[in-house]
Amino acid sequence: MSFSTLGLSPEILLAIDEQHYSDPTAVQRAAIPPILQGHDVIAEAQTGSGKTLAFCAPLVQSLKKSARPRVIQYLILVPTRELATQVAATLEALIQNSTPSVKLAVLFGGVSINPQMLHLRGGADIVIATPGRLLDLIDRNALSLSFVRTLVLDEADRLLELGFAEELSRILDLLPVARQNLLFSATFAPLLQELATKLCQSPIRIHVPVTETAKPDIFQRAILVDAPRRTQLLRHLIKTEGWKRVLVFVATKYSAELIATKLRRLDISAEPFHGELSQGKRTQVLADFKASRVKVVIATDVAARGIDIEELPVVVNFDLPRSSDDYTHRIGRTGRAGASGLALSFVTAESHAHFSLIGRKQALEVSLESIPGFETQESPIQVTKTSDVNGGVKGRRPSKKDKLRALAAQQATLTNKDE
Ligand code: AMP
Repeated sequence: MSFSTLGLSPEILLAIDEQHYSDPTAVQRAAIPPILQGHDVIAEAQTGSGKTLAFCAPLVQSLKKSARPRVIQYLILVPTRELATQVAATLEALIQNSTPSVKLAVLFGGVSINPQMLHLRGGADIVIATPGRLLDLIDRNALSLSFVRTLVLDEADRLLELGFAEELSRILDLLPVARQNLLFSATFAPLLQELATKLCQSPIRIHVPVTETAKPDIFQRAILVDAPRRTQLLRHLIKTEGWKRVLVFVATKYSAELIATKLRRLDISAEPFHGELSQGKRTQVLADFKASRVKVVIATDVAARGIDIEELPVVVNFDLPRSSDDYTHRIGRTGRAGASGLALSFVTAESHAHFSLIGRKQALEVSLESIPGFETQESPIQVTKTSDVNGGVKGRRPSKKDKLRALAAQQATLTNKDE
């Protein structure tokens, strides 16, 4: 099926063609027609499935060249600054040849509010915002949501997770009751289901099975290693496997800084990426990473969603993620848009029970490997050799001590969660 069968206008088709996308992805096929028809849509699609274009293309086509210029017609709420920037990039590609011109406003915290207030003077047609900064700007009378026709919640589960629920409900109160609602999310926890039901009128529900997303090709591995040897193992793998670009996830800002420093000492270009860095620094790190000036980025979960780095072949869970959903989001940074990728998890004696839990929820069929020279001293479970990674060996039953250890590790991960 080609894009031309979805009801898109010649202008939009041309803009898509300029992106060199030949065929629509599953979520684009399913979502574009009902969005164009004005339906509410609830779409469960993995990151990397092409969902940004799935809502941006029909929205740009449906923009009303109204008598009231620069009245906000669409509000796109996103959880992070990086996602805001990426959605804006997709929209910019679609509106570049529009007449009359379309004005976007991209609003997020962590940078001075004044340029955003200035930019909003004279209005905007589409606003992409994180909830906190949007409310700040509304409180300063910099914009009004009274004429919004469509609300998009992108990475909606993350919006709720990051504690935006209260802000979200304030924003919803400011929107016209009659409007189109579009919810996009990789995961749908019960709280989000509840919100979706409250928000949407007779929605079209879309579920794109993982196998049909644009990123089915992520090879997953897990390596058993003693916790203190993980940096050395990472260095070893970078050298021996010839990785050109690696995104490494850790549990805390402190670890991100520490491991980046250690790798630099080992002569590997590495930068930390976490919520306490200035926006300027975060943008710089990503730009350097994309331009291959930096080989390794050590990130907290702030990078787990919304970041789109073309050709990111490897993601490493140096510390395991807190939940199975976080695992999905982290590994979704690789293998995007049809490319293949590798997701590798370091499993320590303390975290193996937690890994088993994630593995069960993910239905992972991954055996724990041991890397020659990095065999563990205190291995609580049976391991296979690197050459036998697909053997499916089960661990022994955890002892009481194992369980206590795992519980402590999980709690440590919870307290260390960085946002
Ligand atoms: P998203 O799920 O919106 O974050 O998109 C993930 C990636 O898919 C982005 O790098 C897009 O450029 C790319 N993409 C979007 N639509 C298509 C398509 N139809 N064909 C190939 N790549 C696409």
